[in-house]
Amino acid sequence: MTAVDDARALLATLTDTPAAGVWSAPGRANLIGEHTDYNEGFVLPFAIAQRTAAAVALRDDDVIRVRSTFSDDAVEVALADLDARIAASGLDWAGYPLGVAWALRAAAPDATPRGVDIALASEVPVGAGLSSSAAIEGAVASAFNDVWGAGLDKVALARVGRTAENDAVGAPTGIMDQMASMLGEADAATFLDCRTLETRPVTLGFAEAGLAILVVDTLVEHAHSSGGYRERRASCEKGAAAFGVPALRDLTVDDLPRAAEILDDVTFRRVRHIVTENQRVLDTVAALDADGPRAIGDLLTASHASMRDDFEISVPELDLAVETALASGALGARMTGGGFGGAAIALLPTELVPAATDAVQAAFAASGFRAPNVFTVTPSEGARRDA
Ligand code: ADP
Ligand code: MG
Repeated sequence: MTAVDDARALLATLTDTPAAGVWSAPGRANLIGEHTDYNEGFVLPFAIAQRTAAAVALRDDDVIRVRSTFSDDAVEVALADLDARIAASGLDWAGYPLGVAWALRAAAPDATPRGVDIALASEVPVGAGLSSSAAIEGAVASAFNDVWGAGLDKVALARVGRTAENDAVGAPTGIMDQMASMLGEADAATFLDCRTLETRPVTLGFAEAGLAILVVDTLVEHAHSSGGYRERRASCEKGAAAFGVPALRDLTVDDLPRAAEILDDVTFRRVRHIVTENQRVLDTVAALDADGPRAIGDLLTASHASMRDDFEISVPELDLAVETALASGALGARMTGGGFGGAAIALLPTELVPAATDAVQAAFAASGFRAPNVFTVTPSEGARRDA
């Protein structure tokens, strides 16, 4: 059963009205460019095959009712009460779909809001650094966009998702995940300039080169809305303010000697991660364009070292996943996502996937860590209408 089938089946338990449509959007893996998004820099994520689906039936009243396979209860809000319910917060998971409805209504004055039943199902593992949140936002935003006749383009829908996540859910994340989920293409990553929101698909060519991306989900839970993530953002803002620039995007590696002089040690290392990571994204795109995916391994591994040592967002499980993958023949490996848990990715020859998987499991067992989920991901298409 796919998420689309599951969403349809769940909708049938909510209402006898047939689905007006089913929309879906994928999770994403970030190939490189971590914590650069809110610094208005560069990122290079790709949409994965695992998707979240939203099956929608029209109602005769003005109630939005959402139900997910994650939860036994449906949540209902009248359109007239939506603003107040979002402001009151406390909606838990329903804050994602209802937050999207709220943000989309504000972003699309020409839309015609109406009541709907929405059933949600997902193949994207939650909290694994693969952005189940952007998947649910992308699926629901695409659904409301069509059902309400909002006519927004994919970039505008990505913004709606981000607004929902920031202002309705309260997680201060950047826009990378939503852009990757909305704009993904098969066999390509989305090169995104987070300042201008300009994008370009960059061909990855993993399969043709005999390579695969292995994900090691450590099952260590992260929480973006809490401490570490906010602290890192604050350090970045402090660094930019010290240079009198709007964002760390405006610094280059040539500014690092001066940064070392004027910043305290911790802030300097946070800044150095962002500045060098932006450069690594640009170098990765250039290497993919010129030489293909075998040329990017060292950049991925350097990114991990920078997150471990300078940005200090890795955890022992992620470091072990990266080290073990490299020792098993990976060309490069790094933690992906916001950090403090979640997943690592490794780029490796496809034939080494089984042995690397076994090696990672053995290393985790030997260290007394919980057995991770290890699986491959495939660069895939972004948000779409499925039916
Ligand atoms: P990540 O995006 O890395 O998976 P987040 O903490 O950003 O982790 O988002 C996960 C949250 O998104 C879940 O705890 C839940 O509230 C919500 N969510 C994601 N997918 C679904 C779904 N299919 N149904 C209901 N809620 C979902
Ligand atoms: Mg998320």
